[in-house]
Amino acid sequence: MKRIVVLGAAESGVGAAVLAKVKGFDVFVSDMGQIKEKYKQVLEQYQIPWEEGKHTESLILSADEVVKSPGIPDDAPMPQKIREAGIGIISEIEFAGRYTHAKMICVTGSNGKTTTTSLIYHIFKEAGYNVGLAGNIGRSLALQIAEGRQFDYYIIELSSFQLDNMYDFRANIAVLLNITPDHLDRYNNDMQSYTDSKMRIIRNQTEEDAFVYWADDPIIKRELTKYGIRAKQCPFSILKKTGMIGYISDGQYVIEQPTPFNMEQESLSLTGKHNMYNSLAAGIAAHLSGIKDEDLRKSLSDFEGVEHRLEKVARVGGVQYINDSKATNVDACWYALESMTTPTILILGGKDKGNDYSSIRDLVQKKCAGLVYLGADNAKLHAFFDDMGLPVADTHSMKDCVEACARMAQPGYTVLLSPCCASFDLFKNMEDRGDQFKALVRAL
Ligand code: ADP
Repeated sequence: MKRIVVLGAAESGVGAAVLAKVKGFDVFVSDMGQIKEKYKQVLEQYQIPWEEGKHTESLILSADEVVKSPGIPDDAPMPQKIREAGIGIISEIEFAGRYTHAKMICVTGSNGKTTTTSLIYHIFKEAGYNVGLAGNIGRSLALQIAEGRQFDYYIIELSSFQLDNMYDFRANIAVLLNITPDHLDRYNNDMQSYTDSKMRIIRNQTEEDAFVYWADDPIIKRELTKYGIRAKQCPFSILKKTGMIGYISDGQYVIEQPTPFNMEQESLSLTGKHNMYNSLAAGIAAHLSGIKDEDLRKSLSDFEGVEHRLEKVARVGGVQYINDSKATNVDACWYALESMTTPTILILGGKDKGNDYSSIRDLVQKKCAGLVYLGADNAKLHAFFDDMGLPVADTHSMKDCVEACARMAQPGYTVLLSPCCASFDLFKNMEDRGDQFKALVRAL
């Protein structure tokens, strides 16, 4: 019997283990950290042996194939040993992809993945399609397949880490939103390695498939010249230009192919420039899949957005508070600032992933009326922004941060949590950071 070892027992790892078990493999799960109780229960239920707090080499290097969770770096000691032993390492999506005939609509990019994936899912679901949601979002693809869910389509959010260990998987529709620096700590600070990971989304695509991408992204433009792309190319831009399949022109949201589609830009439920891109990408993917015009129009205009992404929290004392906790890199904050229409108190800080803040300096100058730093260590922010002449507050807890914002903001201002950084220095995760922000704002 073939042996599958799964490294990492969270959503994707446990899903892969269950699928392997259901498909008759000899399965073993190993996690260096502590496995959450709910995942232990699933492993017990399927009688899958597991270990936590260690990696036992003899039990792992006896594998025929290893499924590695995206959270484990490729150059961690165990994956290195596995490769040295000549054992293949794949991702959960690669493994699960072997057991479904559903059409795969896969979304990647540095920013906008969750929003775009959720929007595509919303459009398909509202149009009555038999559709599942998977990847970095919601429940793992492998578990859904193991449970026998028979969907016609899966909408899948793919991170660069998932793409890294994908080889034969094929996206019927690949969506690439943008490529800007992120997670460089996991790529030896090498932007090209990170870019190569993102471009893997078009691997194995054929003439029958489609590749939807943002045509104005300088990195995507450059990379396209390196690949012989076989899929139908569906570029989009915010401006009407030759060759674009989707664009915004004269207040109209337009998709040209396979049949002409248009609607008022004002009717789109998502606002901000970045969300025009997300709405174009989602609309093109849906239109290509035969969603009726009236269904597409309705879903693009009634989508409620995703929590922690430019989420309006409350208006207190004439000040609008916005939670964009998911802005964990500089580019995401750039788009958030760009969409601000009133003087803004910006909350910045957290675990810095090697950020270069120069790209937001002009926008901070233009849009901000004050800065509140929120991190365990705010030294880098002081060094970069203090000379801009804006009022600055230094805080180390969400409570102090929200109080500082309330003191700084005048009626008519916006307070924007769009911190450019990961949250792990002071919070469990970005959701915890956003939830604490919302609770404290509502208590003001
Ligand atoms: P991801 O899943 O790729 O992290 P999200 O949809 O969760 O993307 O959005 C993450 C952050 O990036 C949010 O702060 C959001 O405001 C911003 N954002 C969303 N879409 C885009 C885009 N197309 N380009 C740049 N920033 C974006």
